[in-house]
Amino acid sequence: MQLLVDNARSFPDWVARRPEMFRDLAAGQTPMALFITCSDARVIPSLITGARPGELFELRTAGNIVPPYDPERPGGEAATIEYALCVLGVRHIIVCGHSHCGAVGALVHGDDLTPLPAVRTWLRPTARELPVAHGVAHAVRHHVVRQRDALVDHPAVRDRLARDLLSLHAWYYEVDTGVVSAHDPRAGGEFTPL
Ligand code: ZN
Repeated sequence: MQLLVDNARSFPDWVARRPEMFRDLAAGQTPMALFITCSDARVIPSLITGARPGELFELRTAGNIVPPYDPERPGGEAATIEYALCVLGVRHIIVCGHSHCGAVGALVHGDDLTPLPAVRTWLRPTARELPVAHGVAHAVRHHVVRQRDALVDHPAVRDRLARDLLSLHAWYYEVDTGVVSAHDPRAGGEFTPL
């Protein structure tokens, strides 16, 4: 923890060496995409994509799950998606799953989630539709496509897709190699390297 505190204390020095960049950030953000991925500490969107501060709007959830839109009680995920589209005018949403995912892995391996009631409840809808016979990597790829497609449940997404103002992407990131592949409808729905 002390390392984190020390780095946070010295961060203003780093910023001071880039005054124009951070002055511009204070004026507002114009992210190129909404990047939805797992909370996993090994997945670092800006490192993977080379995005600089202000260039990626992020939504991170356990297992990069996009929960169904509930018009009566829209949650934080729905608020993030709505803000990205309606306020920031984001034109691309990337849903990125990853290898060695603990959330998907728990479902594939049939782990007992009784001690983790919040995790169990969160993963339950995913568990019902996840193919588990071909390992974690296969399950994650299938899962990512499902989560990308679930985005159309959100009114702001549906509206912008209908007006051709938005593109949805499903990516898979390999933690140990750094390779990113994308779901490619032209390749029969296979994931192919970017
Ligand atoms: Zn994960």
